[in-house]
Amino acid sequence: AFDTRAIQQLDSAHYLHPFTDFKDLNSKGARVIVRGQGIYLWDSEGEKILDGMSGLWCVNVGYGRTSISEAVYRQMETLPFYNSFFNTTNVPATRLAAKLVEISPPQFNHVFYTGSGSEGNDTNLRMVRRYWDLMGFKERHTIISRHNAYHGSTVAGASLGGMDGMHAQGGLPIPGIVHIGQPNYFESGRGMTEAEFGIEAAGWLEAKILELGPEKVAAFIGEPVQGAGGVIIPPATYWPEIQRICDKYGILLIADEVICGFGRLGAWFGSELLGIKPDLITFAKGVSSGYIPLGGVLVGDRIADVLIGQGGDFNHGFTYSGHPVACAAALENIRIIEDEQLVKQVANVTGPYLRRKFASLRDHPLVGYADSYGFVAGLNLVRKKAEVVHDCELFTPELAVGMICRGHMFNNGMIMRAVGDRMIIAPPLVMTKAEIDEMVNKIRYCLDKTLADLQERGLA
Ligand code: PMP
Repeated sequence: AFDTRAIQQLDSAHYLHPFTDFKDLNSKGARVIVRGQGIYLWDSEGEKILDGMSGLWCVNVGYGRTSISEAVYRQMETLPFYNSFFNTTNVPATRLAAKLVEISPPQFNHVFYTGSGSEGNDTNLRMVRRYWDLMGFKERHTIISRHNAYHGSTVAGASLGGMDGMHAQGGLPIPGIVHIGQPNYFESGRGMTEAEFGIEAAGWLEAKILELGPEKVAAFIGEPVQGAGGVIIPPATYWPEIQRICDKYGILLIADEVICGFGRLGAWFGSELLGIKPDLITFAKGVSSGYIPLGGVLVGDRIADVLIGQGGDFNHGFTYSGHPVACAAALENIRIIEDEQLVKQVANVTGPYLRRKFASLRDHPLVGYADSYGFVAGLNLVRKKAEVVHDCELFTPELAVGMICRGHMFNNGMIMRAVGDRMIIAPPLVMTKAEIDEMVNKIRYCLDKTLADLQERGLA
């Protein structure tokens, strides 16, 4: 047992939290999370919290899986660490590579391990440039990404990402990375059907390729469904058109599936559902359900054939590439997903149920737009609804209505994230129909609280 206040004091004195507004941290103590089981967390005061975000889009199999901790313990006892540099290997890393190849699309036969998703995207950047060098096109180094994308916090990851707030700190992006608009129908699709907007938004890629010159462009990177950017679900026409444009100019396609992979969208990898055939897939988070850090890149045959066949070497790797304990945890995590048929469950049972239930929130006076895909969902808070979503009247950003709503959720026992005035969720894949009902009821209750709050202040 410990005194919550004492931990909070140590915390604010010494711990620089990631992505934290330090003003906020200094005024109130951080909430101390101490335990998890299933889809729930408990804080140090004994409050139960429904985790609508799976930690950080990580804990796909839910909390409290003793078979993962046992697999970790056994591997730590046998071999806690050895590196896989210079042609040594370990059993879990090798078995996991074969497993990942088995569950991924057919063009993938090789895996490169990292410790995180950010390092995975750094690896992608170097790998696609190495590929084009080996092919004899040394000018072909530019990578195209999208505004508001999140691809990590390392220098390359944050540069590939399209967050203005991150670019503003540290002189990013680095040269050779450019951004196009995100396929955000609610924000940018005025006057178009969703299908028309999908083609329009994909066309921004072709326009950028022609502006730069195709002979300069190495790759396009995108998440199948943009997560941290606000659960931006592209129209069905978007990705096939992106693939057509990449094929037309011979450009490599990188799918960042750090969030979308491992069942989150209702398939092992989201790209299978969206009609694309990527050359690289970044993975992390769900590969080990966040129990232990692990990430990496699935390397498609187009690149692997050149790297292995002509390359001779790739001077890149991390101490924790192929960490035996992390790989043992991932193998057990994947076994659970298979055993409990969580991918099928999300695709055919709980995913469609969540879609129906979440869509029922559209009748709330604050909700202008709401959509979901598999086990990610988002809704836009608006001042005044409209028949055509683009005619909704928005709140001014200074009001930070999303943060007000998030605060009500947090104080009423649920974690939901705010990206501006878009409220998003990504619950653990083990969530049952009864738990979905509980979650959606909580959201409705907190939307009511938010509305009452705004009305009291004369803002709605
Ligand atoms: N890509 C995407 C799509 C992500 O969501 C994240 C993490 N939120 C990353 C990359 C970076 O992963 P990590 O935090 O493990 O470095």
